Amino acid sequence: MPPVSGNTALLLDIDGTLLDLARTPDRVKVPAELLRSLEKLSHQLHGAVAFVSGRSLESIDTLFAPFQPAAIGAHGGEIRGVDGEVTRIAPLPDSIREIFAGLAEHIPGLLLEDKKSALALHYRLAPEAEPVLKSAMEKHAALFAAEKVNILHGKAVIQVRPHGIDKGSAVLKLARQKPFKGRAVLFGGDDTTDMDVFRILPELGGRGFSVGRRFAGAEHVFDTPRAVRQWLSRVAERGVK
Ligand SMILES: [Mg+2]
Repeated sequence: MPPVSGNTALLLDIDGTLLDLARTPDRVKVPAELLRSLEKLSHQLHGAVAFVSGRSLESIDTLFAPFQPAAIGAHGGEIRGVDGEVTRIAPLPDSIREIFAGLAEHIPGLLLEDKKSALALHYRLAPEAEPVLKSAMEKHAALFAAEKVNILHGKAVIQVRPHGIDKGSAVLKLARQKPFKGRAVLFGGDDTTDMDVFRILPELGGRGFSVGRRFAGAEHVFDTPRAVRQWLSRVAERGVK
């Protein structure tokens, strides 16, 4: 199991790491036990527990209310420090929004999640749309490059976000702030966008675990989000010093 001490900063992806994936992002469930563990750990680690998610901060806060820790939302488009102060990057250009809104409108079952500085097009309910979506992404490649946005393919989701914005660079920023600064970072993630964090972990002297599959740089692999929750629960019950 990954080591957690009183000097750890715990940085955690949400979907697929802490929570089981659901048919749509708003249908995920936050088990009461998980919420208790996170609140306890946040207390024990003096606030050095943060979410690192593709969700917007608003969506994160809705899920975990009333718990409101430091958090990275929209893959780094939003960063909230432990003091509650939020840094946001500019919203995406309209040309990009129109392409994604058009796809969501014309293909049944697609769900467009607007995170202002990023968009996520979910097709879990319409897996057969994948080839159409992939060719649409190729068709607009020149525009994406001109507007300086990246397209990322995740688990039944296509993400669009500005160049230079990713979970890794956001973690580097958050790790410089109190109470994270000087702590041993422990990060957990499950999806391709989490690889950006695994990549910068050596720079922070941090460690990582992955869920469901092994990532380069992950010291431990949990089989399921449930196994992660059980581990967090044990660590919180035991107490960190
Ligand atoms: Mg995830």
